[in-house]
Amino acid sequence: MTIITEYLTFNTKGDTDIIDITSRVDQKLKESGLTQGSVLVFVPGSTGALTTIEYEPGLVKDMQDALNRLIPRELEYAHNRMWGDGNGHSHVRASMLGPSLVVPFNDGSLMLGTWQQIVFLDLDNRSRSRKVIVRITGE
Ligand code: ZN
Repeated sequence: MTIITEYLTFNTKGDTDIIDITSRVDQKLKESGLTQGSVLVFVPGSTGALTTIEYEPGLVKDMQDALNRLIPRELEYAHNRMWGDGNGHSHVRASMLGPSLVVPFNDGSLMLGTWQQIVFLDLDNRSRSRKVIVRITGE
């Protein structure tokens, strides 16, 4: 069994910017030469999250709207009183979505559904430079 650790780096616009990283993860998998196993993607940061979605403009907006309804930015957050950085909603959204995702692969291909993409969500209230860890385990 082989374990390979890679990184994706990119800039985001913040404010629930949802970015399709599927092709970048797939490229790391292809470079690894491994044929079966699993890919773990993880964001080391408490205002970013990873999940999957059908990446089309309607659903991207639906997801942004749903997050705004569920965890509104305008509410009062104890975190904002503590730190004054105004991103209490960002932290709560990130914790609920989670910082990681595991995708299996077979025959060197990610076993995603046809209409299922891997997305990174930048939930912070400002643009960020992000690093996502891609750990490929397999043979
Ligand atoms: Zn904060």
